[in-house]
Order: sequence, then C-alpha cells, then structure tokens
Amino acid sequence: MQFYSTNNRDLRVPFREAVFNSLPADKGLYMPEMITRLDPYFIGNIHRYSLQEIAVQVASPLIGDDIPTAELQRIVREALDFEAPVRPLDDGMAVLELFHGPSLAFKDFGARFMSRVMAFLAHTDDTVLDVLVATSGDTGGAVAMGFLGVPGTRVTILFPKGKVSPVQELQLTTNGQNIRAIEIDGTFDDCQALVKEAFNDEQLKGVFRLTSANSINIARLIPQAFYYFHAYAQARSQGISDVVFSVPSGNFGNIGAGLLAHKMGLPVRHFIAATNANDTVPRFLANGRYEPRPSVQTLANAMDVGNPSNWVRIMDLFNDDREPLRQVVSSHAFTDSQVREAISALFERYNYIACPHTAIAWLAAAAYRRHHPGEYATVFLSTAHPCKFPEVFPDEIAKAITAPEQVRMLKKRKKDIMKLGKDFSGFKKYLLENA
Ligand SMILES: *Cc1c(COP(=O)(O)O)cnc(C)c1O
Repeated sequence: MQFYSTNNRDLRVPFREAVFNSLPADKGLYMPEMITRLDPYFIGNIHRYSLQEIAVQVASPLIGDDIPTAELQRIVREALDFEAPVRPLDDGMAVLELFHGPSLAFKDFGARFMSRVMAFLAHTDDTVLDVLVATSGDTGGAVAMGFLGVPGTRVTILFPKGKVSPVQELQLTTNGQNIRAIEIDGTFDDCQALVKEAFNDEQLKGVFRLTSANSINIARLIPQAFYYFHAYAQARSQGISDVVFSVPSGNFGNIGAGLLAHKMGLPVRHFIAATNANDTVPRFLANGRYEPRPSVQTLANAMDVGNPSNWVRIMDLFNDDREPLRQVVSSHAFTDSQVREAISALFERYNYIACPHTAIAWLAAAAYRRHHPGEYATVFLSTAHPCKFPEVFPDEIAKAITAPEQVRMLKKRKKDIMKLGKDFSGFKKYLLENA
C-alpha cells in the first residue's frame, strides 16, 4: 500500500517509508491511498471474532502486501495480549476499558503494534534499530514497554527532570534490557530539541540507524481502529447494534482511528469528541474557524493540546468539508470542576472510578443521551487506569483504587536512570560511548 501526505495527494511513499519517516517533508501526515470498506458479511458476523482476528481483518487492507498475513497474525498476537472489555454501567451506557495493557493506557495499542511492525520491516538488516523518544509522560511509558524485549530494537527515552509522575517514572526507568532512560535537567521542549538535533547529526546518522516513535506514526494510528470494531462486536454480543462512541481527545489520534473504522464500514451512529478546556475543535465545529491556541493546563493533562496534530487526518477523511463531518462528529469541552463532579458522580452512582480523561468522555456521553433519547448504546472510552493520577481524587475515592498487578510489579523493580544536562554535546557523547 502507498501512503500520501495530507498536504499533497500526489506525494506517495511505501508503507515502510511512512513508518520509518513518520513525517512527510511537506509537514502533512501520511494516509493510506485506499480505504477499502470491509466485507459486510464480516461486519454482520463480527461478534464471532476475537480482538486478534478482527485486528488482522482491519489491518490487512490498510497495509497490503508489505506485511504477509502470517507475520501480521504473529504481530497482532504478540502486541494485543491483553483485554479491551466493554462494561455496561446502566441502561444504554457502557465503558470501553482500554487500560489493561502494560502501561495502563490506551497508547499501548499503538506503541506495541508499531514496535513489532518496525522490528519486522527492519529485520532484513543486521544493524539495531535505534528509537529515540522525548516524552512528557504517558507516551514514553507506552513506547518503552511496547518495545521491551522486541529483537533488533533499542529505545532511548529522554524525559524532563521532576516533570513526570511517580508511576510514569517507574514505567520509564525500570525496564532494563533494550530500554534506556535518560533524565534531562531541563523541560520537555529541551528533550525534544535534543532528539531533533540527533536526527540531524551527520556523525550519529553514520553510526546508528535512528528512527522516532512519533505519536503521529501511521503504525500507531492503524491499531487504534481495532478496538472500535471489537467494541462494536461486544455490543452485538449483548444484543445491541446501534452504538455512539464518546472519545476523550487531545491530539485526536484516538477518535481519528474511530473515524477511519467508520470509513471502513463500521456502523456507528455518532462520534463525540470530548475535550477539556483546550477546545480548538469544539469551537471549530461550532463556528467554522480553526483557531488553535496555546495549550492550558488541566486535570486531564494528557489532553492538554492546543493544536491537535491528528486533526488534519480527520479533515482529510472528510475531504476538508466541515458539513459532512458535523453529521458524524460532535464535540464538547468540559471544565476541571465538571470533571471533579463527574468523578464523584460515577463513583456514587456506579461505584466506578474513572481517570479524569475518562470522566470527560462520560460527561459528553451523558449530555448526548439527554439531547438524543433513543434505543442505542453510548460507549465512552476509558483511556487510562485511575491509579496513574492519584493526586486528582478525593481521599475516599483514592482509597478505593486498587493498583493493578502491573504497578505492584513496577514498585519491586530497580530504577536505572542516566542523568544528563540539556546540552547536545553531552547527549551525543553519551550515545557514542554507549553504542
Ligand atoms: C494520549 C491520551 C489521550 C488523548 O488521546 P489522543 O489520541 O491524543 O486524542 C487521552 N487520555 C489519555 C489517558 C491519554 O494518555
């Protein structure tokens, strides 16, 4: 399959190029040149398929011959070795839990699939694939754990000192094997600048085979479509065939994958993009003006994005036309105080503990139901386990959170952190001396 840039449909590259160079030179994003509708017979019988089987059916037509079916089956089996259950809460409302992977966030789907796709595409060559990532938190954990133990790869993660949560720090620094964590005495922007400079350094490029694990990589987007099909399959098993999805959105990769699934023929009644105070998209859908603003800090900090990077992909899916988009997607923003109320309401009504991102998706789902009564299921996506955000919850709720096995294991492990300043020469010296 060839992939085009959203800035120029005539610029086409093979899958491999799109994966290893996630950003086209014209700064657009890659999209598959063909989005085929899946066989209606498959969709009609989808409740008979497992998540892994669904994943192969969805990924094959998007990737084409670049990964043979037997390899794709192996990649999917290794990457998706955890559950994504739909749990009904009450009449018509259900939660899709995407946090049962190793880093306890939905980003595991993208990171684990991408790592194995990269390893497969690189394996013809003997040099190790060196992945450099800068992280401010969640992405780094998913990438580190996603690549852990994947043969032929090595990951170097840069994170800003004092800026990641305790659980995130454990996820970054206790992996060992092919994962190295470097704490930079600086900000996230300093970390990003170091990674960028490394990619442009002729000497490093000569010694290492460098690649990024950027969040806009097409190999991270594709696997996020899998769980929309799988959630629909679970709804069908529960006797429901009409579904609305509510998606907590920051860079809009998650909901972008949902809309890709929709274009491939997944019958979805409506999508809701739920945001925090960073409301560029809800404002655009309301008034037609796309006016990004600097991001503001909120309780749902993985969604603190002022200019969502995947938005161009969504516009591309709708041929840059806002009207048809508004038929399929609506978008609402919520404040931190609404989020706190939602967390308490979910706990009191259902004894359910939602992370702040998930609470926003529930708020949007509940508002939609109030305005659109009917016989359908509203499924809101839970993107992270609440134990990752302990400071957000009142004591009574915080006490009721049980740390999953993944966190108990992390706490037993030893941190291994390299500490460096924010100057490029020190970082370069470290890379060369630890080749
Ligand atoms: C990354 C993230 C989001 C936002 O997802 P996008 O694909 O960027 O819209 C929401 N919730 C959590 C917990 C995340 O880590």
